[in-house]
Amino acid sequence: MFLTIGTTGTAEDPATDLGFLLHKHPGKAQAFSTSHGTAHVLYPEADAERCTAALLLEIDPVALVRRGKGKGRGGAPDAALAQYVNDRPYAASSLLAVALSHVFSSAMKGVCTARPELAAAPRPLRIEVPVLPARGGPALVRALFEPLGWEVTAEPVALDAEFPEWGDSRYVRLVLETDTLTVAAALRHLYVLLPVLDDAKHYWVSPDEVDKLLRAGEGWLGGHPEQKLITSRYLARRWSLTREAMERLELVRLAESDDSEVESIDNAVGAETETEERPTPLAQQRRDAILAALRESGAARVLDLGCGQGQLVQALLKDPAFTEIVGIDVSMRALTIASRRLRLDRMGERVASRVKLVQGSLAYTDKRLKGYDAAVLSEVIEHLDLPRLPALEYAVFGAARPRTVVVTTPNVEYNVRWESLPAGHVRHGDHRFEWTREEFRAWARTVAERHGYGVEFRPVGPDDPEVGPPTQMAVFSTQTVNEKEAKAA
Ligand code: SAH
Repeated sequence: MFLTIGTTGTAEDPATDLGFLLHKHPGKAQAFSTSHGTAHVLYPEADAERCTAALLLEIDPVALVRRGKGKGRGGAPDAALAQYVNDRPYAASSLLAVALSHVFSSAMKGVCTARPELAAAPRPLRIEVPVLPARGGPALVRALFEPLGWEVTAEPVALDAEFPEWGDSRYVRLVLETDTLTVAAALRHLYVLLPVLDDAKHYWVSPDEVDKLLRAGEGWLGGHPEQKLITSRYLARRWSLTREAMERLELVRLAESDDSEVESIDNAVGAETETEERPTPLAQQRRDAILAALRESGAARVLDLGCGQGQLVQALLKDPAFTEIVGIDVSMRALTIASRRLRLDRMGERVASRVKLVQGSLAYTDKRLKGYDAAVLSEVIEHLDLPRLPALEYAVFGAARPRTVVVTTPNVEYNVRWESLPAGHVRHGDHRFEWTREEFRAWARTVAERHGYGVEFRPVGPDDPEVGPPTQMAVFSTQTVNEKEAKAA
């Protein structure tokens, strides 16, 4: 079992600082005895430009079986043998995660007494796990790491390189790259997500695992789109523990996010329960504005990209002008909620044939997105890290190329009007950025020009004379204004 963590640097900011961050000197190889074998830390390379630490865990399969006794396995006649002959010795798994927390415990906490400023600063990082058991395959690997700011390469490992016709194993070779995360955050992601992907804990999961999960998940698990899957798998699908963890995460979220109030004003699904005196919630106004733009465009087949919990899909279904509606989201959890909201299982065949929910990431070109009349990106772009935005632009405007694209995003200038939002805060914990009207327009015009679209802008919500509307919307069309005029003439 093996993984490497590497960084790059310069003479002023040497890569060998990694040694301080990991509390392991790059000059020596060290060995630590853990409950299931010996963990070695060594540095295959260590100079100012590049420094890589390797963690290698030598498993003692016999100790593993002895320790695992209490787990009460057995039953099938070959179960006894399976205890000895399995992938534990070489595949990264919960064992590696435990070794990681044992060997790098201070680093995981972000403690660096010698150089505290180092621990707090993000570094360019590259992590490689050559053999990672991944239940859910490369798609799940990406869905777990990408929302945290990682560039993910997950290649399926062939069962046997000599016999490609045997197909892929359940393992992937994983490479993670970033320059926006700290070493401590990176270690905490691995500590939680390696066993989640392995989905087979080597030990009995006791209630104090909830504490461990919440400690390691601090600052990232709460806002993760796959929070439920992570929590449930990490806790070995023990439902009572999973529920406890989810409830505690929700409490943390409520306590921490000063902006939760704004988001609930904003996204108040209470649209359905609204009374006449209450102003129409912004989320509803946004859907109305999107529907209007789509109707004007004459679209019949529509993509809702980053459809979340399916409110817009539901609204689109109510209008028979939309003959085919596809909701796409990276989050299975959101899609499950969407499908419940739509009662897909109880829908009549005629309606059901008009709607589809599929999982996919907008950061990748996807053949399934081709051939539609229009695409909507409602409150989605701000959930992507800026460096990943060009990938989405290409996937939507370059490859899928619907005639019309409707994009909405918060107008950050309006934030001063939300009384409950402290100055300088974004509206939602997962927003990676919020743009001024000028910034949004500059982005939209560049995208339009690059991909041959015309674009126009519309306010959504009250258009404040000073700071503009709370939501800004851009309607892109391949029929530029000029062409429209030419047609009309
Ligand atoms: N469109 C909905 C939801 C907006 S929240 C609405 O207007 O209410 C943003 C959504 O984008 C989330 O559901 C999130 O899971 C999804 N998302 C974020 N990054 C994504 C990506 N790379 N690919 C697909 N969906 C993504």
